[in-house]
Amino acid sequence: PLVLGIESSCDETGVGIVRGHELLANEVASSVDLHVRFGGVVPEVASRAHLEALLPTLHRAAERAAAAADVDLTEIDAVSVTAGPGLMGALVVGLAGAKALAWALDKPLYAVNHLAGHVAVDLLEHGPLPQPAVALLVSGGHTSLLRVDDVATSITEVGATIDDAAGEAYDKVARLLGLSYPGGPVIDRAATGDPAAIAFPRGLTLRRDLERHRFDFSFSGLKTAVARWVEQREAAGLDVPVADVAASFQEAVCDVLSAKAIDACRELGSTDLLIGGGVAANSRLRALLAERAEQAGIALRRPRPGLCTDNGAMIAVLGAEVVDRGLAPSSFDVAANSSLPVSTVAL
Ligand code: ATP
Ligand code: MG
Ligand code: FE
Repeated sequence: PLVLGIESSCDETGVGIVRGHELLANEVASSVDLHVRFGGVVPEVASRAHLEALLPTLHRAAERAAAAADVDLTEIDAVSVTAGPGLMGALVVGLAGAKALAWALDKPLYAVNHLAGHVAVDLLEHGPLPQPAVALLVSGGHTSLLRVDDVATSITEVGATIDDAAGEAYDKVARLLGLSYPGGPVIDRAATGDPAAIAFPRGLTLRRDLERHRFDFSFSGLKTAVARWVEQREAAGLDVPVADVAASFQEAVCDVLSAKAIDACRELGSTDLLIGGGVAANSRLRALLAERAEQAGIALRRPRPGLCTDNGAMIAVLGAEVVDRGLAPSSFDVAANSSLPVSTVAL
């Protein structure tokens, strides 16, 4: 099916157009520059930016699809849109836009889950997903391990962070190192030092933690450990070796993420591991996982970095999967849900 997808859950306004697993257009407008001086996304500012960006982004995507595949918006089979999770005011803008578009074009509307979109986007690059697959979802607001039996109908969370998300840890550590926002890409670039310079803690990997939290994560202790290390260093009047701290922090995050992801594949009998979400763009995570997956005989599916962060194509391809399974469209009364669980793929 030919599907147009709209994403507006955080600070990216995205419009994507796909035909099945074929990407025809993917236009993203980010309001990140407006949030930099606040050191994080300001919901009011994000909502307003979505309102301003939605129509221009939609028009750009339509032009792209027309140029790339001679596709006209009147030919689409459905409109899909992020219904949650995310910032309520931001979600509402995309959802209202999607309803208006679907109504005007007289097409069915599919309200879908943003996190399932981070998983589904991989189909655009690597085709149908073998079952069951394991997905490591690592983003700004979420960090979990998922068993994916069918991306449109059956996603089960087998583990999740018990405190901060991985992306959140990156953002907080960047701030305490005096680096800019968003911290993920900045630390990725700053981590040129020795990853073994400082032995930062690996959350929930001790034997006693593994009994109850084998597939869970914890990053708040790591963040505190980095803060304390930096404070002690400053108190002693010494320089903070940012490249070493960043590399050591990043190693601690990526070590745990990749070890638990591989372990989940073994436990669930999956030979395919997929990664998604903004932190899946991280160069060290991608490299370490490639190494460990190969050793374990697991096929690693890594969407290109530009598809890991928020975009409309991920919502379009998830919509296409939902259409393909013959699920009923959403009601035009459908509401945004800021804490939609990943197991609810479509509303
Ligand atoms: P969620 O998907 O949980 O609702 P979100 O949509 O805000 O949250 P994403 O856009 O998926 O999150 O990811 C943004 C996060 O990814 C930010 O925390 C950012 O720092 C992080 N990130 C982006 N690029 C990288 C990178 N190269 N290395 C590490 N983290 C990164
Ligand atoms: Mg963002
Ligand atoms: Fe996201």
